This record gives sequence, structure tokens and C-alpha cells, in this order.
Amino acid sequence: MRTANDIMWLAGYLEGEGSFCCITSNGYLYLQISVSSNDQDIAEKAAKILEARCHGPYQRGPGALGTSPYWQVSLTGARAADVMNILIPFMGKRRLGQIKKALSSWSERPASQGNSLKAEPAKCHPEEAMYKYGLCRSCHSRRFRWNDQSIQISAQP
Ligand SMILES: [Zn+2]
Repeated sequence: MRTANDIMWLAGYLEGEGSFCCITSNGYLYLQISVSSNDQDIAEKAAKILEARCHGPYQRGPGALGTSPYWQVSLTGARAADVMNILIPFMGKRRLGQIKKALSSWSERPASQGNSLKAEPAKCHPEEAMYKYGLCRSCHSRRFRWNDQSIQISAQP
């Protein structure tokens, strides 16, 4: 159950730190809200409101900015679309642009994908959609953004 305070908090947090996107992966389209934080309590709070899981802690690899561990939260598909629609009235111009673009790409997905929005499963986390190199979006970001060399990638993007 999300309270009005939860939504306001989430809107403020995602305004600063969140990402809203609609990604094409192997011919499938998927919608995602994601956020990462160095603070476990903050990531867990976001996960609770989003009704998503909080993953981590993850270590940044050599070469990444900073050394503190971080946590990641992501929500995909129809549930992400619901949250984006709830957040619309609270977001600033730039985030609103991202949300509207993502929702409009997602609403134009082929009917064959249905509302359940099945994406190819990631090899690292089969319950998540594959993004690139066999990885889910979170692991892709750990591998490439934070240079976590412990994450195995497939040869093909
Ligand atoms: Zn993964």
C-alpha cells in the first residue's frame, strides 16, 4: 500500500537519482524504472514503495568513481508503467520528458508482446529482462558503469 507521502518521497528521490527508459532488446521492448544508491536504507525504502526487490550490496570495480558499495532497485513492465503514470504530476521537465518518451515507445510495442511484456530472460537473473550481453540492466550497469569485472558477459551484445 503506497501512501501519498510515499509517492511524494519517491517522486523527489527519482527526480534526482532515477532513470526511466524503454529499451529494445533482441526485438523486444521493455519499460524500466531503475535507481542505485550508496545508502541501503534509501534503496530499501525505494524498493518497498516500488514493490520491487533491492539488490546488493555491489562493489564498484577498479576505475569506477568512488569505492563505496551500492544497492540497486529496478521495476519493469506494466508495473513500471503504473508507477510512471502516478509520478507524472510530480516530476520536473527533464524527467517528465524521459517518462513520456518511455511510455509512448512502450505503448507502441507490437500487440504480439501483449500487456505482460515478456522480454527475453537475462542469463544472470532469469526473472529480469535481458538488456545486453546476456545481462539484465542492473548487472549491465554494474559491469560497464561500475566496471565490476566479476560479472560474466556473453560475447554478443
Ligand atoms: Zn543480472
